[in-house]
Amino acid sequence: MTIANNAEAGPRVIRVALPLPLPRLFDYRADDASPADLGRCVRVPFGKGEKTGLIVALPDLASEAPDYPLDKLKPVIAIQREAPALPHDWLQLVDFTARYYQHPLGEVIAMALPPRLRKADAVAGTEADPLLTLSASGQAALGEARRESRALALIRQLQHDGPTRHSQLQARDKTALADARKRGWVEACAASDPAAMAGAPALTAEQQDALNAILPQLGQYQPFLLAGVTGSGKTEVYLRLVRETIARGGQALILVPEIALTPQLEGRVAGRFPAARVVSLHSGLADGARSQAYVQAQEGRADIVLGTRLSIFTPLPRLGLIVVDEEHDPSYKQHEGVRYSARDLAIWRARQRGVPIVLGSATPSLESWHAAETGRYRKVELVHRAVAATLPKVKPVDVRREHLQNGLSEHLLRALQARLERQEQSLIFLNRRGYAPVLSCPSCGWVSRCPHCTANMVLHLAERRLRCHHCGHDSHIPIACPDCGNQDIQGFGRGTQRLEETLGERFPEARILRVDRDAARTRRQWEAILEQIGKGEADILVGTQMMAKGHDFPRLTFVGVLNADSSLFAADFRAPERLFQQLMQVGGRAGRGELPGEVMIQTHYPEHPLYQCLARHDFARYAAIQLDERRTARFPPFAANALLCAHAPEVAMALEWLRAARELARPLAEASGVQVFDPVPMRMLRLARRERAQLLVEATSRPALQQFLNAWSAQLWHLRGPRELRWHLDVDPAEV
Ligand code: ADP
Ligand code: ZN
Ligand code: ZN
Repeated sequence: MTIANNAEAGPRVIRVALPLPLPRLFDYRADDASPADLGRCVRVPFGKGEKTGLIVALPDLASEAPDYPLDKLKPVIAIQREAPALPHDWLQLVDFTARYYQHPLGEVIAMALPPRLRKADAVAGTEADPLLTLSASGQAALGEARRESRALALIRQLQHDGPTRHSQLQARDKTALADARKRGWVEACAASDPAAMAGAPALTAEQQDALNAILPQLGQYQPFLLAGVTGSGKTEVYLRLVRETIARGGQALILVPEIALTPQLEGRVAGRFPAARVVSLHSGLADGARSQAYVQAQEGRADIVLGTRLSIFTPLPRLGLIVVDEEHDPSYKQHEGVRYSARDLAIWRARQRGVPIVLGSATPSLESWHAAETGRYRKVELVHRAVAATLPKVKPVDVRREHLQNGLSEHLLRALQARLERQEQSLIFLNRRGYAPVLSCPSCGWVSRCPHCTANMVLHLAERRLRCHHCGHDSHIPIACPDCGNQDIQGFGRGTQRLEETLGERFPEARILRVDRDAARTRRQWEAILEQIGKGEADILVGTQMMAKGHDFPRLTFVGVLNADSSLFAADFRAPERLFQQLMQVGGRAGRGELPGEVMIQTHYPEHPLYQCLARHDFARYAAIQLDERRTARFPPFAANALLCAHAPEVAMALEWLRAARELARPLAEASGVQVFDPVPMRMLRLARRERAQLLVEATSRPALQQFLNAWSAQLWHLRGPRELRWHLDVDPAEV
C-alpha cells in the first residue's frame, strides 16, 4: 500500500479490532481513511448498536478482498483523529501478545488501553506539569524566624532538592503546596536537566562493577540478570542506569510486581530525579489519571514510567531501558483474561526496540537463572548487602523435638522476648489469613465447606464470618453444628488472626500489628500500616506474603516462619521454588539496618535441602538442584507448556469437550513433536459453582509449541460444546 494510492478518491476499507471474544477482525468502509489512521480508535456500527475498536490495517483493495462485498460493507461512524494514533511498534506488541497467548486481538487491545482512550469520543486531557522552584519570597521566608509549618517544610525540601515537578510536590503534601503557592513561595521555572540527581549515595564497589557491566550496552538489546541478595542495593543500580538513559534522551520503563510497592519506589525515584517527569501506572489508578499518564508517555513527555505488569503496554517513543524489579514474582503473570507474562513480554519488547533490559531479583526465577547460566542473559551479581555488614542468620527449628505452645516453639518465643527487651521489631510470617482455616465439629466430623467450591470456608473471628477465599462466598458462623447440633464446634489450625490473639496473650505488653489483606484492604490502609511500622509503633508484626516483598524496615531484626512445610510437597512443580523465594525474601526483611538479623523457620524437615540451602544463603545451589529435577521431569525451562482449561456446571461436560479437543490435536501434535496429555479434573475441582478440567500440552521448545497452538486453536474456536461451557488456553501457565 502506498500513500499516493490512498490520497486518491475512491473506496477505502479499514480493518478494525473490536473487543469481542472472537479470533477475527472486522472490515468497514471509510473512504477518507489514510495510513495515518492506523492505530486510531474508531466508532463503528455493530449489530443493532455501536462499538469502539482500533484500526489495525488498511487492506489494499487491489490485492485483497474485504470480508464482505464492498457495497455491503457498513461505513464507520467516526474515526477519532484528535488523539494521537498508537504507533506501529505498539501495534506490533499487541499483535505479538495476541498471537503468542492465543487471545483475540481486540480483547488484548481493550486490556492494554486505558478505558477512556478506548472510547473514540473522549480525548484524555494533557494537563501541564510545571517545574517549580523556590521564589525570592520563599527564600526570604526560609531565612526568617517563623513558626514551623508544613508549607515551610515543603519549601525547605524544595531548596534541598532543586526544581521539582508540581505533581511530585502535590503527591508529597497537597495542602502544604497550596499554602506555599498562595504565599508566593514557589514559582515555575524553565526546564532544567531531567537527568539531574539529588541525594544519591556513593556506590559500593560491587554496585559500581555492576553498573560498569551494564552501561556499555545502553543503546542495544541485551538482557541482564541482576542477581543481588536482599538489601544489596539493586535499586541504586537501576537508578544510575535510569539517569544515564535520561541523559541520552531516552525514557525508562520500570516494572514492579505490586501496586503495594509503587508508592515507596515512586517516592524514591521522584525524589532522586526532581526535574524528571515520572508517571506511575497501575490498575488502582482512576481512569482519568491512568489515561493521562498513558498519553504523557506516548507523547514522549514522561521520562520515567513506573508501574505494574499492565504498564508493559505503555507506548514509549524514546524507550531506552527496561527494568523488571523482583522479576521472579508470580504477579507478573496475569491469571485471567489475557494470560500474559509481563516479564516475558518485556524481553520481547526490549529486543523489538533494541534496548537493554535488566531483570533484578535476590531469588531469580529458574527460567531466568537458567537463561543466565547458559549465556542467553548476562549475569551480574551483588553478593554483599549495601549497608548492613552481613546477611541474617537463618536457622531451621526442628519442631519434632520441641513442645509447641499454640504452634510456637520455645526457641521462637525466646527470640521474640529478646527483641522486645531490646526494643527491636519482629515479624512472624504465616501465609494464611483469617482466624482458623476451617471450622469443624469434633463429635460428628462436620467441616465448614464452601457450597460452591472444593474448599473450606475460613473462620474470620474478627469479622464474625465464615469466608471462602476462592469465590468470596461468606456466611454467618453457626452457633451449633448444622449436622448434629453439637454446640462445641471449633476452629482448627491457625491463621493470622488467631496468631495475633495468641501472641497478645503471651506478650501482653507488646504492640502487635497484623498485616494481611484483611487489615490492609485499601491502598490508604496499607500506607498507614507501613508508616506505623516505619515509625516503630509496632513491636511484633504478624504478616502474610504481603510482608515478604521489597520493604525496608530498619528496626526489624527477627523473622519467625510458621507452617512453611505445607508447600514442601505440594503437587504443583513450582511450589518449592515459590517457597524458597518467599522465605528468602521474607528473611531478607531482617537486619537491613545497622542491627544484625535472625530468621527462624519452624519445620518437621530441618534436613531438607531447601532449608539447608536457605540457611547458607545459597541460591545457586538450590537452583542447581531444582533445575536438575526439572530437566529429568521435562518441566520448564526444559520444555514449553500450555494448558487447555474448560469449565462447566458439571465436570463431565468439561471432560467431554476436552476429549474432543484432544482428538483434533492428535494429527497436529504428531507433525510438530508435541505431546498432548489426557484431560483430567483439576485438583480444586469446583470453583464458584463451576467444575473444571484441564489438559496439558508439552513441547520441546516454545517455537514448536507456538506452531502447534496456532493450528490447534484455530480449530478449537469451531469446536462445538454445550452452551454453558467456557474454555481458555493458558500459554506458559504459572501452575500445572
Ligand atoms: P535491594 O533492592 O537490593 O534489596 P535496596 O536497593 O532497597 O536493596 O537497598 C537496600 C538499602 O541500602 C536501602 O536502604 C538503600 O538506601 C541502601 N543503599 C543502597 N545502596 C547504597 C549505597 N551505595 N550507599 C548507602 N546506602 C545504600
Ligand atoms: Zn456435628
Ligand atoms: Zn467458594
